[in-house]
Amino acid sequence: MIFSEYGKTGKQVSAIGFGGMRFTNAADIDGNAGLIKKAYDTGINYFDTAPIYCDDKSEEIFGAALKEMVKSRDEKPFYVSTKSGKDKPEEVRKDIEKSLKRLGLDSIDFYHYWCILTLDEYYKRKENRVLKEFEKLKEEGLIKHICVSTHMAGDDIGTMLDDYSFDGILLGYSAMNFAYREKGLDFASQKYLGVVAMNPLGGGIIPRNPELFDFVKSRNDENVIEGALRFLFNDERINVALVGFNNEKELREAVKAVEGFEPIPSESLENIRRGIKEAFNELCTGCQYCDKCPLRIPVPKMMDSYNQLMLGNSDDMLGRLKWHWGIELKDNPAGKCSECGLCERICTQQLPIRKRLREMNEKVQQHLAKQQSKR
Ligand code: SF4
Ligand code: SF4
Repeated sequence: MIFSEYGKTGKQVSAIGFGGMRFTNAADIDGNAGLIKKAYDTGINYFDTAPIYCDDKSEEIFGAALKEMVKSRDEKPFYVSTKSGKDKPEEVRKDIEKSLKRLGLDSIDFYHYWCILTLDEYYKRKENRVLKEFEKLKEEGLIKHICVSTHMAGDDIGTMLDDYSFDGILLGYSAMNFAYREKGLDFASQKYLGVVAMNPLGGGIIPRNPELFDFVKSRNDENVIEGALRFLFNDERINVALVGFNNEKELREAVKAVEGFEPIPSESLENIRRGIKEAFNELCTGCQYCDKCPLRIPVPKMMDSYNQLMLGNSDDMLGRLKWHWGIELKDNPAGKCSECGLCERICTQQLPIRKRLREMNEKVQQHLAKQQSKR
């Protein structure tokens, strides 16, 4: 396993982290806990969960695994990350109490100011004294480090990191959205933050489309999963790539990617970066130039979600809108487009945004009608 120091905390964290957001059978507490323990045995020492992951079962699953793991914690340290997305101090307090109880711990190593989607939201929670509450939790020893998790783009991440001195950051970063977050990584690294990349396999899209993502391979003897993970291991700004394991096979593949890691020669790295640009010709690159809609339709977020429709399916797109971007499907921004064409005129990829929004509107309407008919 490769280890590196998480920011300036002195804690050595593993290049792969166990992300607890994707257990397919979350009701199988012991089975999933067994997988977490196996990951710990292979050298993984960063474990990430959150209160509502997997129908609110994720923390319970980790709790079952940690009960055993704490016995060897002194010789073999591990670190636990969880989160609160609440916007009132008293609710944050309730979240941490519940998390500690479920995890069976006295303190959380990396506690995240969770899921910041916009700067407005960041400031609103801060004005509500939520960060002050995090600081109190730290003084009381209930958390060790204050971190942030965000889906914002680069410049906004920079503004937030200038405003508050977090110890670490959790952000989505992969060969799929690399353009959107690149600057954010730079800001985090300039401030010596610990950096954890979530979704390194593009939510499963990369392994599901091996031909399209063939360019991430820098060696003949690796597959796209190894290539995509090694692309992140090679990036010195990133400490941990967080993988949502579901079974031992996935765990073995990821560990193999670390064990066989060798620094990627600069020429191959250039090929990968160029490949990203070429393979993404038809895809939104997340550059955000089009984020100027007079009707305040969040075009970059909509087009990022449309990527999932092109590479995955309709459910992937709806999931991306709802869970990644926090857009309520009933609000359906795609249906509000007046087709003025401004965004298309300034799109760096010259994408047919209006046509894509029409298609998205149709899919969302169909989904809502289906939901309605079930009631
Ligand atoms: S075409 Fe639609 S999404 Fe694009 S700027 Fe005009 S109203 Fe906004
Ligand atoms: S300008 Fe085009 S490529 Fe860039 S974010 Fe907007 S839709 Fe995507």
